[in-house]
Amino acid sequence: MSRVYNFSAGPAVLPEEVLKEAAAEMLDYNGTGMSVMEMSHRSKAFEEIITTAEQDLRDLMGIPDNYKVLFLQGGASQQFAMIPMNLMKNRAADYIVTGQWAKKAAKEAEKYGKVNRIASSEDKTFSYIPDCSDLPVSEDADYVYICENNTIYGTKFKELPDTKGKTLVADVSSCFLSEPVDVEKYGVIYGGVQKNIGPAGVVIVIIREDLITEDVLPGTPTMLTYKTHADAKSLYNTPPAYGIYICGKVFKWIKAQGGLEAMKEKNEKKAKVLYDFLDQSRLFKGTVEKKDRSLMNVPFVTGDADLDAKFVKEAKAAGLENLKGHRSVGGMRASIYNAMPYEGVVALVEFMKKFEEENQ
Ligand SMILES: *Cc1c(COP(=O)(O)O)cnc(C)c1O
Repeated sequence: MSRVYNFSAGPAVLPEEVLKEAAAEMLDYNGTGMSVMEMSHRSKAFEEIITTAEQDLRDLMGIPDNYKVLFLQGGASQQFAMIPMNLMKNRAADYIVTGQWAKKAAKEAEKYGKVNRIASSEDKTFSYIPDCSDLPVSEDADYVYICENNTIYGTKFKELPDTKGKTLVADVSSCFLSEPVDVEKYGVIYGGVQKNIGPAGVVIVIIREDLITEDVLPGTPTMLTYKTHADAKSLYNTPPAYGIYICGKVFKWIKAQGGLEAMKEKNEKKAKVLYDFLDQSRLFKGTVEKKDRSLMNVPFVTGDADLDAKFVKEAKAAGLENLKGHRSVGGMRASIYNAMPYEGVVALVEFMKKFEEENQ
């Protein structure tokens, strides 16, 4: 068996310890004589898996009691519709457009009400986060929406926008559990787990209780109503059970690493190695404004598409996989999520140095 350093943006690298544990428990989970994939979601064993997962997530993020944690399906993209369907009481919302995911979310919300794009960084290919200290927040906006870490472009909100009292909704898919968060600053925090937490198929929604109501837009399906899942503790129907089990293991792994403060420290240390190299490289260049750099997704280019392609190909041969940039940016992107070891980033930088020498 040989594992590569996997820089994929998602689905992405998971902690090896978690994968080994899951493998060891595949045929017989905890004396049940069956795998978690095969058991009833109403069984005692699964009930313990989901309640423990929720409690560990609450401990890690310090989630207050007046917030619900929901384990749902449909990926992050389903939330693009579920958020307006459940939250647009005035049929109006403000969106800050910092990349493709926020753009898609805004477009979807337009099906349900008036969408005001109160800030955008599209003028410079989403290479920065706009100043959000004094935005023209709409009087009647039901919420202000952000994508906190822009997976494709490699930018991150280092400060949350001033929403002038409006509910903040954040897509944190690609920065989930990468650093401490102050949950109370948000009305809704959600993310697909396949970037930083677990297998595709689970989306976690952390939502303040007063936002969970029966007063949703007419025609909202039962399955797309937050209240359905909150009332049933995420067991209204069969949940993505195996995925939740893996998420639970990742929460335990993060706890064992020292929690979110420790994760942040490790992530900063990893990102610094790569950014420091990029800042002095003659061949490679980072593509975003320094102050807005993500700790999780690091896009870079040589400025020559053929050389970029050569780099991606040779890196793959050296065991450094999935470094090709998103089709809308080109170049390269290294996603260095929680589970990417420090050694993986060092190996990447060593390879980049060598490539630079050979391709002057
Ligand atoms: C990947 C990603 C999405 C889309 O996730 P799906 O689960 O595939 O719908 C949305 N937002 C962000 C920030 C992402 O990184």
